Amino acid sequence: MKANFQKSFVERIEALGKLSEEADKLTRPSFTPSMRAANVLVGSWMSAAGMTVRQDTIGNLIGRYEGENPKTLIIGSHIDTVRDAGKYDGTLGVLLGLAIVEALEGKKLPFSIEVIAFCDEEGLRFHLSYLGSRAIVGALDEKQLTFADAEGISIAEAIKQNGGVISRIPQEAKKPEEVIGYLEAHIEQGPVLEAMNLPIGIVSGIAGQSRFEISFTGEAGHAGTVPMRLRRDALCAAANFILAVQAEAIKTEGLVATVGQLTVEPSASNAIPGRVTLSLDIRHQEDKLRQFAIESIKSSAENIAAGEGMLHRWTLISESPSLHCSPKLLNLLKESLIAAKYPATMISSGAGHDGVQLSRITEIAMLFVRCRGGISHNPLEYAAPSDIEIAADVLLAAVMTLAKNG
Ligand SMILES: [Zn+2]
Repeated sequence: MKANFQKSFVERIEALGKLSEEADKLTRPSFTPSMRAANVLVGSWMSAAGMTVRQDTIGNLIGRYEGENPKTLIIGSHIDTVRDAGKYDGTLGVLLGLAIVEALEGKKLPFSIEVIAFCDEEGLRFHLSYLGSRAIVGALDEKQLTFADAEGISIAEAIKQNGGVISRIPQEAKKPEEVIGYLEAHIEQGPVLEAMNLPIGIVSGIAGQSRFEISFTGEAGHAGTVPMRLRRDALCAAANFILAVQAEAIKTEGLVATVGQLTVEPSASNAIPGRVTLSLDIRHQEDKLRQFAIESIKSSAENIAAGEGMLHRWTLISESPSLHCSPKLLNLLKESLIAAKYPATMISSGAGHDGVQLSRITEIAMLFVRCRGGISHNPLEYAAPSDIEIAADVLLAAVMTLAKNG
């Protein structure tokens, strides 16, 4: 990259970090004034880099750099954020895509490049993640457009307020034959690279994920009058269950399982808990191992409920299979990283990204950039400019090799 790359990159990160719906923190949900301002700013940088810039109906910001052939390599990520976010999640990937095009300095490649800032990856406002990338691969269904925000405004209404015509969404979707691949750089959002003392990792795939809602129903009662032996305390059963989840996850290499939400009823200091509802999130890179762990955890729940004379309910909320990145694109990144004298370490992503959607129509690959303390979704989020520059060099080398070899 150019001599002033690190400085200008940080200036852009800082400029975008100031565009927020909240004065003292970075919160940039989709279809808000701060989001529009961010799109205008990134769009102006794209134009200056020689790209034609447009926004599609759903709100994706697309900068197109024409090549000798209309077939397109997409490089992207997102610039919407969670509440009280960091400045790097998503933004890093969009700005790196832009930096690649800037580095080409007008040189035509055999293929075209689109740098895309996907609309609403985080799902902060409508609780539907990957809104823009779903639409661009034609995977957004009409029912999802009815999802509403806290004020009752639906996605469809927000699009209309933004000047979009809903009927155009399907025709704006990309066809598989128009796209040659998708590359995304993202902060790792975990501590693995830092622990290995590596600036960059190659993402081997994205873990499959299952989410469940589970409840234990015992009997509520007076905290003072019901003897311990006669109680059916749903929270004690839930506590045993949570420990069983932890034990199962520790036993299985690479498995992560989390109970993150508990609702206790009646939830009073002088009442025996009669009913507890809890969430369970399970992820693994291998779908078989995830299913195996689910079966084992489920039978633990049944045993705990039966042992304590309780009713037990187990409901699947959502499930997505694991995704393996394209061997061809992975090799490209691997060779670029080795050429830059860094070990090509593969890591699996426990978090989902826009690439999950893009993989429906094209080959994908991702790079992770080390982030301090593994922290993300937090104002403390930070990636060192020197690490970002390595990611830029590796991505650029990969794009140039792709241009040479096809
Ligand atoms: Zn992200």
